[in-house]
Order: sequence, then C-alpha cells, then structure tokens
Amino acid sequence: MMRAVFWGTRGSLPVALTAAEVRAKLIAAVTAARGRDLPSGGAVAAFVDALPFATAGTFGGHTACVEIVGGGSEHVICDLGSGLRPLGQSKIATFGPARPQLYHFFVSHLHWDHLMGFPFFAPAYIPGNRIVIHGCHAELEEAVRLQLSPPGFPVTFSSLAAHIEFDRLVPGQTKETAGYSVTPKLQLHAGDSYGYRFERYGKTVVYSTDSEHKLEDAEERRGFVEFFRNADLVVFDAMYSLAEAASVKADWGHSSNVVGVELCQAAGARRLALFHHEPIHDDARLARLLDETRRFEEIVREGRPRLEIISAYDGLAVDL
Ligand SMILES: [Zn+2]
Ligand SMILES: [Zn+2]
Repeated sequence: MMRAVFWGTRGSLPVALTAAEVRAKLIAAVTAARGRDLPSGGAVAAFVDALPFATAGTFGGHTACVEIVGGGSEHVICDLGSGLRPLGQSKIATFGPARPQLYHFFVSHLHWDHLMGFPFFAPAYIPGNRIVIHGCHAELEEAVRLQLSPPGFPVTFSSLAAHIEFDRLVPGQTKETAGYSVTPKLQLHAGDSYGYRFERYGKTVVYSTDSEHKLEDAEERRGFVEFFRNADLVVFDAMYSLAEAASVKADWGHSSNVVGVELCQAAGARRLALFHHEPIHDDARLARLLDETRRFEEIVREGRPRLEIISAYDGLAVDL
C-alpha cells in the first residue's frame, strides 16, 4: 500500500475562506436544494456530496506539506509548510504523546512557505521523538535554526525537546530512507529547489514543486521526463495557467498545468496532481483550471493512455 496525503496545497502564502466566500457557497447550495425533497440526514449528505466541489468544499489554504504513507512505522513528509501543524496534531491524536515517533522530512527548498509550519509542529516539542530533516541545500540547517530564533520566533531551535538531525542529500543520488528509494533532482527556482522521487513496492510518487520549466531546452525536458518516468503520481507545481506562465510570470520560478500535462504524458505517468495553488485563485477558479487541464489532456492525448488529472486540496488522500 502506498498513499499520498495532502496536508497543505497552497503556494507562497496560506489563505483562508472569508465570511463572504462561505456565504456565497451556502447561497449556491441552498439554491440548488430548492424544490428538492430531502427527508433524511442521509439524503441531505448525498445531495451535498453531489454538489460541485467549489460549492460544497474548498481547496484549502495551508502551504506545502505532503505525507507519503507506505505502511512502515516511520513518517515521511515533503516540505514543512503550514499544513505541517494539522499533520502534527493528527499524529499526536493517533499515537499519543508518550510513544516516540520518527519523522523524515524532505525539504524542496528554504522559502518561507515551505518551512513556516515547523515551529508549530507539536511533535518537535516532545522528548523522545526523532526528526531527520533531509535536503540538498548547504544552508538547510542554518535556515531552520534561523527560523526558530528571535526576533522572528520566541522559541529557539536548541530548546526543542525532540532529537533533530540534518541529512544532506546529493541530487541524482538515490538513498534508502524509511523503506523508500529516494532520488532528489535539481529544479529551476530562485535559490534552487529540489524534487524528490519516492519508490517502494513497485509504486512511485514524484514530489516536484516550485520549479519552472524551459521545455524548449531538450536536455532539461529529457531530465524531467526521466524523473517522472512511469510515476503513479506526480505532484506538480501548476501555480499558473499557461498564458500567465508564458507571459508576465515567466522567470517567476513556477510552472503551469499545461507543462505538467506535457511532461507527464511524455513520461508515461499515470496521475498528475496540480499543486502549489496561486493564493489569489478562489475555489471556482481552481475548479475551472482543473476542467481546462482535463480537456487539454484529452486533446493532446493522441492515442496514449489517459493521464488522470486531479487538483490537490487540503485533506485529499490518494491511494496508489
Ligand atoms: Zn512555494
Ligand atoms: Zn519557492
């Protein structure tokens, strides 16, 4: 069994639904219910489940944090965005504070949105827990220590009760961790970022966020096609639409839904998860982006097997 659990899917900055947005969702739902006979709680629940996701749900607002679950007792987590806070609460609720846990973090890069959850990760404050922070940046330890120091934060790194280590990885070199074969890859982003390919039990998940792609560069393209090769799931930075990515936001260090489809199709990947959502986009806009991406995939499929496309949201679990 292998599963990806999305705890944070928003790019750059956490966002929350406003009262006005909740009200608009309620008005849409009640309007859809007019004239319907909903005699039981079960009927109401079934009605709500059939509503469009942008009406009945939300993509959510936590920044990048994705858990890879593979049946082992060690926890494997990509990035320390604000989604790490609810992940930590969930682990304490499941295992209790007294049973020591081992957490492996794989850090894409050191921008705020990918580290901001760590000071709020409650297991870091519990003695007996062990945390290994893996990453390719030379400044990895320095950046995490700096975040937990005054004047930015009242608690210092050295006062955290858990045992914390750092593990420097080398791009292109596969390492066995927690039962997974993990391979990092350098990506184009300000200050560099790294994607991670996880393999176990013949299943593959690729976590590739905060990466701009220059597909006209054949070698760059080949490198990513190889990195995504036959993956069961590719978590992909699709912050922009192609029009945005190609025009005003070129060189901003992010990618688009269209580039994600092209690379995944060329790689024979099975499923693409749009990820690192633009904070300005509301639920309706993100739902439209997903629809457009699915239509685009159909148009350019040309006899290849269908690439399944999903848009990641906080709380989504994908079984592989
Ligand atoms: Zn980011
Ligand atoms: Zn970044």
